[in-house]
Amino acid sequence: MSTDTLTQDHAEQVVLPPGKHYIDGQWSDGSGSERRDVVDPSTGRVVTTVPEGTVEDVDRAVAAARRAFDSGPWRTMSPRERGAVLQRAAALIMEHGEELARLESLDTGKPITFARMIDTNTTAEHFSYFAGLAGAIEGATRGIRGPGLAYTRREPLGVVAAITPFNFPMILSTSKIAPALAAGNTVVHKPAEDTPLTALRIAELLTEAGLPAGVLNVVTGHGAVAGDRLTRHPDVDRIAFTGSTKVGSAIAATAAANVTPVTMELGGKSANIVFDDADLDEAVQAAVSAFVFNTGQFCMGGTRLLVQRGVYEQVLAGVVGGATHVPVGDPLDEGTVVGPMAGERHLENVERFVALADGEGGRGRVVAGGQRIEKDGGFYMAPTVVADVAQDSRLVQEEIFGPVLTVQVFDTEEEAIALANGTPYGLAAGLHTKDVARAHRVAARLEAGLIWVNTYGILDVSLPFGGYKASGYGRENGPEALDEYLQTKSVYVAL
Ligand code: NAD
Repeated sequence: MSTDTLTQDHAEQVVLPPGKHYIDGQWSDGSGSERRDVVDPSTGRVVTTVPEGTVEDVDRAVAAARRAFDSGPWRTMSPRERGAVLQRAAALIMEHGEELARLESLDTGKPITFARMIDTNTTAEHFSYFAGLAGAIEGATRGIRGPGLAYTRREPLGVVAAITPFNFPMILSTSKIAPALAAGNTVVHKPAEDTPLTALRIAELLTEAGLPAGVLNVVTGHGAVAGDRLTRHPDVDRIAFTGSTKVGSAIAATAAANVTPVTMELGGKSANIVFDDADLDEAVQAAVSAFVFNTGQFCMGGTRLLVQRGVYEQVLAGVVGGATHVPVGDPLDEGTVVGPMAGERHLENVERFVALADGEGGRGRVVAGGQRIEKDGGFYMAPTVVADVAQDSRLVQEEIFGPVLTVQVFDTEEEAIALANGTPYGLAAGLHTKDVARAHRVAARLEAGLIWVNTYGILDVSLPFGGYKASGYGRENGPEALDEYLQTKSVYVAL
């Protein structure tokens, strides 16, 4: 591990991984001369740099992954032996939990409390959960016509390209890497350009856990160069992508040329419905955390609040109160709930959206927040609530990816369902009611991959998640995720 310790600001107690690619079990400077700044979003200061990955770097990483798949021990060792390596990885991640949480917080601006409680723990759970499932991969015998024995084998695909966004770097990389490795594949990972640090450290920890060289490779750099090369590389056998719908759609088109299968975890604009019989205190609390969690940089964030008319004013007042009082501040302060946005361009994008709300003609009026917060040169946005927005407004239809909540009123269950389903997206949804029959009825009709009843945002590694409609296809978590990294072979033996 590097001893490159920083001595300024939040970087004080963080041990940075080397600013290099991780290829074939070794640190590599890469073939290019360009480097990319990694910025602390709470101060705007550069904390380190990483290489801007080139086509040549990606080709080298894919070649290493290919060799490790074709002739290394990983694919042929027993699934339980692979599981044992992944269990050791889970233990090492917990052992280094504080270090990883600090690194993630420095890189993304995520409050340290959440980085510990959610990001680090979930990352370790990915490895322990899929370690357990590795030993359960099995085929079947089938009753066939004629004198023969027929059975199926579940086999790995080969080299997996994992491409991830900036908002949950550790969780979204290991939600791909852990099942891909459990199934016997090898991986080339390209983390988001702005948040590469934990991916590099985790690659190093996996080597320490016993992962053979070349089984996991990390190339840092720009999507349009390193990412693009990965998606068109003929030796890549699956692409696992999480990111925006726009980029995902372009990647799927590129991948089609080589008939490379893709998993697409894309954008969201999730509705959160409050019926008039709900426990309003709980619903309000859930509604606030649903849109401020991770500073609104949460693909499943409940960013569209739909409230039944009889309780509209009461819920709106509660949400405005909650949004106004939520502690915004330094990510390393234990009491912080909302940190800075991960980068300046994300903050500017949110400001452009909020400027659309001017109170005129259903474009919405800002009733809480609405502006950035000047603090230490960081990228802070005040939690913002926009009321009385029309369904066709861009604020309702487009993903803002910041701490911005729109609030709309409805009268009937039918209307609530129509409004909730009335965007191109379908990632998640929440609903609050004490009527059990209504809860199940509405849950069945919401067009989204994950529904929360009387809560919001709870995820579990055993529960699959993924999109309906423009939010993508394929599933992460649960046994379903393992299926994404396996293919089925049928064998017929004449008797
Ligand atoms: P993004 O689409 O801009 O980038 C995601 C990744 O794709 C990055 O690593 C980027 O470098 C890479 N990339 C960009 N262009 C590429 C190209 N042409 N070829 C290959 N790779 C390319 O997304 P972002 O801004 O980092 O993240 C925010 C988005 O991610 C939001 O839309 C959010 O909803 C979505 N997201 C979805 C989920 C989910 O599970 N569905 C989870 C988290 C985030």
